[in-house]
Amino acid sequence: MDKKVIIFSAPSGAGKSTIVRHLLTKFNCLEFSVSATSRAPRGQEVDGKDYYFFSTEEFENKIRKGDFVEYEEVYKGSYYGTLVSEVQRIWEKGNIIIFDIDVKGGVNLKRLYGKNALAVFIQPPSVEELRNRLVGRGTDAPEAIERRVAKAEEELTYADKFDVVLINDQLEEALATAEKIVGEFAAR
Ligand code: 5GP
Repeated sequence: MDKKVIIFSAPSGAGKSTIVRHLLTKFNCLEFSVSATSRAPRGQEVDGKDYYFFSTEEFENKIRKGDFVEYEEVYKGSYYGTLVSEVQRIWEKGNIIIFDIDVKGGVNLKRLYGKNALAVFIQPPSVEELRNRLVGRGTDAPEAIERRVAKAEEELTYADKFDVVLINDQLEEALATAEKIVGEFAAR
């Protein structure tokens, strides 16, 4: 069997994590790729489950050693990356890897895995709607929201580099479409 990966990327607030979590409950053959990050844990996050948490120094050492398949400084001062060991761990179990990753990382992984990758770009209905969602979520300060919105505008220009663009307008519809395309990819 080919070693497959499914990549979900989106501007922040487009509903990507909700969709990825839903797919994980529907498909036993999928396993979430736990990323490494140098940012501090938030809330109830657990090391090894939500992220592998490293200090900046530890993360930079791992970059030098070539431990990452890809990494990005997604936010200033915060690295995020996919460990070679994580990819191997999941494939060894015969599972399909599912990534929740920023758009640049998504494009890099698609380039790396080619036809063995299904790359899905989740598009929020509009930048205005994205701003409303971030405000509604209540986890970011106003300046942080404006920064994320500005970043989202740039990230939207990457959509055409993905295999599928999924517009997350109605969540139920987006979940159903995601299930369909992932089911087809897993079966092929
Ligand atoms: P957060 O700090 O909110 O958990 O995540 C911030 C962003 O980093 C999200 O857009 C998430 O998709 C992205 N991200 C998480 N893991 C990785 C990774 O391994 N590589 C890259 N390039 N981005 C990641």
